[in-house]
Amino acid sequence: TIPEGRSAVTTATSPHAFWLAGRPATGDDTLDVTSPWDGRHVGTVSVPSDAQVEEAVAAAAAVAEEFSATPAHVRAAALDHVVTRLVERSEEIAALISAENGKPMKWARGEVGRCVSVFRWAAEEARRFNGGEAQRLDSDAGGVGRLAYTRRFPYGPVLGIAPFNFPLNLCAHKVAPALAVGTPIILKPAPATPLSGLLLGELLAETDLPEGSWSVLPVPNDRMPDLVQDERLPIISFTGSAPVGWSILDSAPRKRVTLELGGNGAAIVLADFADEADIDWAAQRIATFSNYQAGQSCISVQRVIAHQSVYDRLLPKVVTAVEALQTGDPSDPATDVGPLVSEEAAKRVESWVEEAVSRGAKLLTGGKREGATYAPTVLEDVPADTNIGCEEVFGPVMSFTRVDSEEAAFAAANDSKYGLQAGLFTHDIQAAFRAHRALEMGGVVVGDVPSYRADQMPYGGAKQSGVGREGVRFAMEDYTYERVMVLTGL
Ligand code: NAD
Repeated sequence: TIPEGRSAVTTATSPHAFWLAGRPATGDDTLDVTSPWDGRHVGTVSVPSDAQVEEAVAAAAAVAEEFSATPAHVRAAALDHVVTRLVERSEEIAALISAENGKPMKWARGEVGRCVSVFRWAAEEARRFNGGEAQRLDSDAGGVGRLAYTRRFPYGPVLGIAPFNFPLNLCAHKVAPALAVGTPIILKPAPATPLSGLLLGELLAETDLPEGSWSVLPVPNDRMPDLVQDERLPIISFTGSAPVGWSILDSAPRKRVTLELGGNGAAIVLADFADEADIDWAAQRIATFSNYQAGQSCISVQRVIAHQSVYDRLLPKVVTAVEALQTGDPSDPATDVGPLVSEEAAKRVESWVEEAVSRGAKLLTGGKREGATYAPTVLEDVPADTNIGCEEVFGPVMSFTRVDSEEAAFAAANDSKYGLQAGLFTHDIQAAFRAHRALEMGGVVVGDVPSYRADQMPYGGAKQSGVGREGVRFAMEDYTYERVMVLTGL
């Protein structure tokens, strides 16, 4: 239901309002959003003052108990409403994501579709979550006549911090599970891409969720430490870079912190994946998912580790497929690869490739920059101690490594400080189980690239890629804890 008077609320003003306790508000400062493709002005966003941030946090804390007691059907209906509106406005929202982030329309549409799924899952999970569980305690003499009844309750309001690379869906990954369990959330979108998060607020404002249960605040980075340490926000769900993420955990050690951080995804191609059709499939998937979103995905293919028996057939096919990708204007529906988020980001990638080449890596294609756009690039023989060799590139660059055994392939994939996901191209089910056991990662995708993610499955990292798991139900569990009630005299 859309409460009277609220359906007209829109962020399509200048400056765009932020959302303070569910209502539009403006502050004294502003933030400009520009297109990384052509530098065009996409919008100006109002920035909340310290007093307004305080107001939002106080409102979240004040409504926490009431919100946690709202019936599941009320929360589910609000989430369903967001689903409906995302579907109705999908083309416009995809265009907004593309404009502020530079993401090609084909991928921006995909992101809206995933966001629809996240809210749909959250609505379904809200209805079935937390049925409560009873346990007889009379297996011990002291427990005779007693019963333990367990339900999950939220820890309290969530601080959700989102990155720029999926400006809508990674906001959804914070917001939808919070609303599903009935815990308030303060959402902080990325400074380069705040408009998608604010638009999500526009859809939430059409629901009758209690005032204070959600805010969307584009708080500048230098003012985040106060929010991170605010004791009224016991949960932090952060998606972003490893240095920022780990510093948040260090500065708030007593909070429950979920960190979804970087990676340098490996696609492993084993010797048995050797038919013409196998090689074609692997090459196509690797070429596409090293470069989708200009490589700015935490699980894009950065490393290709191929058995020597398939390596020499795979590599040229990947190069051909990479060269067939269309680079250009993200608003063109035919564009495969758009700009990076900024010229600065593209220059960093350029300097890393130059470093690798100067240290002996072979450049097989790409290696050129034009403004914020970096050409899809394939490297071979990259020294392990270069930036490309050990850091997260977060750009359209992959490097090939030749191995002579399955063990060597798994060892090479594990030879990284990150451990988010790996892709394993094999038909051998036993090899798949061995990989699942051997790879120090949050996930292993068999038969495809590491870049596959379904939003309902548990998702997150090992090693420096993070702690905790997202995926709608897993985030709902993360935001809540089991509280037992022991009944006596039964
Ligand atoms: P970032 O770390 O620069 O910023 C992420 C968010 O943190 C932004 O909202 C930013 O404003 C905020 N932030 C910055 N400094 C802060 C501070 N001191 N305290 C609190 N918040 C602060 O990351 P980014 O460049 O926006 O995103 C790219 C990174 O995100 C990559 O490393 C990528 O791998 C990672 N990522 C991870 C996942 C995952 O699920 N594992 C998904 C997408 C992106």
